[in-house]
Amino acid sequence: MLHLYNTLTAKKAEFQTIQPNKVGMYVCGPTVYDYDHIGHARTYLNFDLLNRMLRFQGNEVTYIQNITDVGHLMNDAETGKDKIKQKAQETGQTTAQVIEHFSEAHKDVMKRLNILSPDNYPKASEHVKDIISFVEELIEKGYAYATTEGNVYFRVSKKADYGKLSHRGIAEIVTGTRIEPAKDKLSPADFALWKAAPFGATEMVWDSPWGKGFPGWHIECSAMSRKYLGDTFDIHGSAVEHVFPHHENEIAQSEALTGKEMAKWWVHTGLLSVNGQKMSKSLRNTVSVDEALQEYSPNELRLAMYQTHYRRPFDYTRANMEQGVVLRRKIFSQYNSLPEQTSGDIYQQIIAYLEDDLDSPQALQCWGNNINKISKSDTNRLFDIFGLIYRRIEDDPAAQRLAADRHVARQNKDFLTADNRKAELLQLGYEAVDNDESTDYVPR
Ligand SMILES: [Zn+2]
Repeated sequence: MLHLYNTLTAKKAEFQTIQPNKVGMYVCGPTVYDYDHIGHARTYLNFDLLNRMLRFQGNEVTYIQNITDVGHLMNDAETGKDKIKQKAQETGQTTAQVIEHFSEAHKDVMKRLNILSPDNYPKASEHVKDIISFVEELIEKGYAYATTEGNVYFRVSKKADYGKLSHRGIAEIVTGTRIEPAKDKLSPADFALWKAAPFGATEMVWDSPWGKGFPGWHIECSAMSRKYLGDTFDIHGSAVEHVFPHHENEIAQSEALTGKEMAKWWVHTGLLSVNGQKMSKSLRNTVSVDEALQEYSPNELRLAMYQTHYRRPFDYTRANMEQGVVLRRKIFSQYNSLPEQTSGDIYQQIIAYLEDDLDSPQALQCWGNNINKISKSDTNRLFDIFGLIYRRIEDDPAAQRLAADRHVARQNKDFLTADNRKAELLQLGYEAVDNDESTDYVPR
């Protein structure tokens, strides 16, 4: 049985679904103003592992991931420029072009990483009607108020359990975090559900009962998760930096509206750093997924990142990434000589580690130490769970031709040609490992 850590209860417990063998999972998607970086990759790779484990255990998973294409302001709170508008201005494009380009880039890079596609990628801008009626209902219930400036805020003081996800009281939240002041708020902890349009704005603004404006960032996830997964669903996830304010505010909005629990399980992935430092624009140390994939294959990226538990911080360093390369080589190079039958004990042990709050580091260590004790069919199952793709060179005529070429070149001691073919093979996804007599082509 799968056990999962729940941020809401701060405990690990046996995972139970609301409906038998059905899981509704919502993971906050990207704000589409830039290419995905390796922090995104880490988050979505870990939710992919969870998704694959849930399916492996016989669940039918409905996976929703939103696309934030409006309302995410520069400082994540509620002031500053809209991230997408800013990008459009910098690049001389329309906001629609920016949104289209980066949404497609996101889907594309997720595919390259072999991440199972969500069942739906709802866009905030296409759900403004749902958001407006959500906000109207919150006002009717007294949980929100509109101001003369055309903004609508959530009245945090009315929600007695506000802070239950981040395990902090309201007073602590107000003093402990930098909340942007807004002169029309009744209390500093209140947060925006709807923002009045800046003067003269024509793009990304909608008519509403409160005048022209656009939705706040948090409300889109409340409105869209409810629309696609219902009032209460099984799993809500994202990276740990979204526990507060994003998820705390989602819970407040949704539970105020429905009077029901929003999600049963709150799952958060740990932080990612690059060589021990927080990734940031000012440090110029942001690594895009594209850049990472120029050095490491998707299999290697997975095997490197999964060697750190999803809740722990992951440091993107050469040494940590090389561990993924080493393990990929170790596992794949032995694939052809795996036994057809084994006792299955090691395989069961690996599954047991994964069932323990997705303990992928232990699972991979056990696998790496016992590759030959797992049958080929069980290994194929592990490939599926970890999202690994094993490509056989026998099925790839272009690569086979290069390998044959290289073989001839080596026999003729034409090492320049042999090296060129080796590099080309690597590009195609096969690493040449030369033995005394022959060469193995290990998939990357
Ligand atoms: Zn969200």
